[in-house]
Formats: sequence, C-alpha cells, structure tokens
Amino acid sequence: MLLWYQGKLIKGNAESLYFLFDELQGVKSYLSEPVYLGLHESLNYFAYQLNQWHTDFNNLELVNLRQATLTVSDYHLGLLYHSQGILNWLSNHPFCSKCGSQTKVINSGHGRKCSNPDCGREHYPRIDPAVIFSIINNTGPESKILLARKSIWDKHRHSVVAGFIEPGETLEDAVKREAYEETGLKVNNVRYFDSQPWPFPGQIMLGFSCETEQWDIQLIDHELESANWFSADEIESKLKSDELKMPFQASISWQLINRWFFSQKNYELER
Ligand SMILES: [Zn+2]
Repeated sequence: MLLWYQGKLIKGNAESLYFLFDELQGVKSYLSEPVYLGLHESLNYFAYQLNQWHTDFNNLELVNLRQATLTVSDYHLGLLYHSQGILNWLSNHPFCSKCGSQTKVINSGHGRKCSNPDCGREHYPRIDPAVIFSIINNTGPESKILLARKSIWDKHRHSVVAGFIEPGETLEDAVKREAYEETGLKVNNVRYFDSQPWPFPGQIMLGFSCETEQWDIQLIDHELESANWFSADEIESKLKSDELKMPFQASISWQLINRWFFSQKNYELER
C-alpha cells in the first residue's frame, strides 16, 4: 500500500515506499477509501490518503514525489503518479458538479457517483492537458536554448516554458501562443517530443521543441520572473558554479533540456 499525507508519501519501514496491509490495521479509521492500483508480480497494490496525522507514523520519513522518483523503477514511478493523481481528484470532488449533492466513491476508487437518487451522475477523473516546450534559437554563432524561472522556485532553478491548452486550440497553436505570451517570441517548427503525467493536481504534460529567429525576450504576461538564452557551454559552467539549477531528472523539462544539450555536446547533462 502507498500511503499519502498532504501530498507527500509516508515511507514505510525497511526503506520501502510501501506498507503491508497488516501494518495499517491499527490506523484504519484514519485512512481514506482505498484506491486499487493493480496486480503486479502476485501482489495487489492500493493507495490511501491519511486523512489525519497519527502518532504511529512519527518516526517515519515523509518524502515528496520528486525525492521518491530518484529511487524507483519506471513501473513504480507510474504507480506513484497514478495514485497521486487519483487521490488528488478524489479529495477535490466530494460533491456532484451537476446537482451539488455529496458523491460516493465507486469503481475501487476510480470514480465517484452522486448520492442523490434523482441525479445519480457518475464522475471520473479529469485530466488537464498542458504543453511544455524548449525554445531554441539557431541563428547565432552557436545554438542557444531559452531557460526561464518563476519567482516561487528555489534560487537559481530554471526550466523550459509551459502552459495550459485552451478550448479549440491545437497543441501546436498552444505552444505558439504560450511562447508569445510568456516570452514575446514568435516560434515555428513545433515538434512533438514526449509526454508525462503531472498529477499536481491532474495534468498531462505534452512535450515539444520549437524554434525562433528572434532574440529579444519580453515577459508579456509576467508569469515568469526571468528568461534568458543559454549556450550549452554556459549551462555547463553555471551548473558547476551553482549559478544555475536544472529541473529534477525524472521530469520531461529536464529531458527536453538534456536532449538539446546532447545535440550540442554529444554527452548528457550531469545528473
Ligand atoms: Zn448529482
């Protein structure tokens, strides 16, 4: 069983992220309804939310998803993302969006049903698509990538640009609009890269790369604190001197930056 508390995982004994069913019997009344995650190698996996702190866990470590991803295989990483996304959705949707009555959990934690017999609508998790993209300028003596930061991030942390897709937009149009709104750059050559679930609270990040011929950055909508151009050499030296921090390695943003870096240097960014 995976056990979450306020967006963090409680790490079980023996350095494992999982608890055995028997280990949670004493705290049953503190747990949310279970979410069934699936059967893998003869073990059934479930996720719970701890609704209220219990002193039984006082000596156990709380880890965020970012820390947890450093130590798990791709299969377990999928379980972590899946369980966090479903639990977020369950806790954020206690009421029916049609009639306002309370909903109850159905389908082993994967849906909710309105308790009003005159309504009875079923609700399922909604996933919000967002685009995330690297902007590259190849028109100078050396290729450069745009790295930006938001004021709420740790000091020196930079990443690529991201934003939500609006109704009626293609993914490519969303990249072009977000690039312009956040950086003032007109981009072209939008190419799909990869995707990543991002359950904070319920997104899927669709990764792209794109190019621009402009250098002049303008933070039009002021969602970013700063954005600047970096060559591969500049990234390498600023990482060494701690003037620059990258997104965490399991993220699609790190992979987008790393792919461009590799195309320049023929080796990967230092992890
Ligand atoms: Zn209803």
